[in-house]
Amino acid sequence: MRLLRKAAVVFACVAVPASQADSQAFSDSVTVIRAARMLDVSTGNMVQNAVITVTGDRITSVTGSTVPAGARVIDLGNVTLLPGLIDAHTHVTSNLEAGSYVRPARETDADVTVRGVRNLRLMLQSGFTTVRDVGSTGFADVALMRASDAGWIDAPRIIPAGHSLGITGGHCDHTGWKPGVLEGSTVTGIADGPDEAVEAVRQQLKYGAKVIKICATAGVLSFEESVGAQQFSDEEMRAIVEEAARHGVKVAAHAHGTQGIIAAVRAGVASIEHGSMLDDEAISLMRQRGTYLVPTTYLADSIDLRILPPLLRSKAESILPIARANVTRAIRAGVKIAFGTDAAVIPHEHAIREFKTLVDRGMTPLGAIQAGTINAADLLGTADRGRLAPGLLADIVAVPGNPLSDIRALERATFVMKGGRVYKQ
Ligand SMILES: [Zn+2]
Repeated sequence: MRLLRKAAVVFACVAVPASQADSQAFSDSVTVIRAARMLDVSTGNMVQNAVITVTGDRITSVTGSTVPAGARVIDLGNVTLLPGLIDAHTHVTSNLEAGSYVRPARETDADVTVRGVRNLRLMLQSGFTTVRDVGSTGFADVALMRASDAGWIDAPRIIPAGHSLGITGGHCDHTGWKPGVLEGSTVTGIADGPDEAVEAVRQQLKYGAKVIKICATAGVLSFEESVGAQQFSDEEMRAIVEEAARHGVKVAAHAHGTQGIIAAVRAGVASIEHGSMLDDEAISLMRQRGTYLVPTTYLADSIDLRILPPLLRSKAESILPIARANVTRAIRAGVKIAFGTDAAVIPHEHAIREFKTLVDRGMTPLGAIQAGTINAADLLGTADRGRLAPGLLADIVAVPGNPLSDIRALERATFVMKGGRVYKQ
């Protein structure tokens, strides 16, 4: 489907920000954070008596023992400092609730965006300083990214996908309505054939997406009969990955069924989301290619099945036990894991519980923390975060006690800093 192309209007804007003096003061400000411990997530070393110096929005030292003159000192006591946490699979503008299926036909993009403001605040308060949002409507996630970057809202940094790309009538299409209601277009991510798939990528990027999300297979929370059948063809997926790569953008693939997982990995996606039915072939292909698995596995223990329509409920009941077992299988086989929760399907304030579930599935506490820090940063292509090191963004979280002996300590963050600003203390 094509849009009428209107003549571009270019606005020249030369306004001086009113807060320039404030920004200048902030960029020079020095804060020293002291804590009993700091976890080096790269090595697993627990550094005692940590002292981190932050200048403006960056970490400038992690070993300093002297406090620079004029620095603000934050003494956090018996806590462990960690890099700000990263959730690589959220839907911040959505919440699964009884009847939430009729929402797309009733809500405006403004409603959707405001829900995102609420959910982002909850995630930031839990300790997430970056989220990759893999599917929203109305480019609300792009607007939220801009609001977060401008400091208008208390929110993690956002890497938005815009609309998930999917086939007509597939998992990422709004189905169950009569013709004419909620019809899709390449702008809203619906594409059939390689040409439209390429156009849909371009449309998302045009309106601000920083990652492309595709529905490689059917899914649980949509009204097609299958849970896992491949939806985009091999050719369509290859076209999407190639087009995204031309723009330096990665592709994340929602995939439950084995055949679709394998096709998406072969097409070159950076991550398989969910990966419920992966088998030995899929596992070895992912290891060979370095494809990440984003397991979104806490939801398998906690999704409220009672609120789902019967078809969706029976699909969930059949796939979730298989998905749980296969996450363990992938962990044991050494597939690269990045942390992601599908927050929306679970309440955003519970996304943090994924860490404990990853340990239940077989990861070490350090492995789970790495999934939500260095691994997720690697998957997102954001080298400026995910560790506590000089030159990186001052995204810092403190949790009580020692998370290597009690992973649930992560569920009780007492301090959250993003870009040198304190959001929770
Ligand atoms: Zn999702």
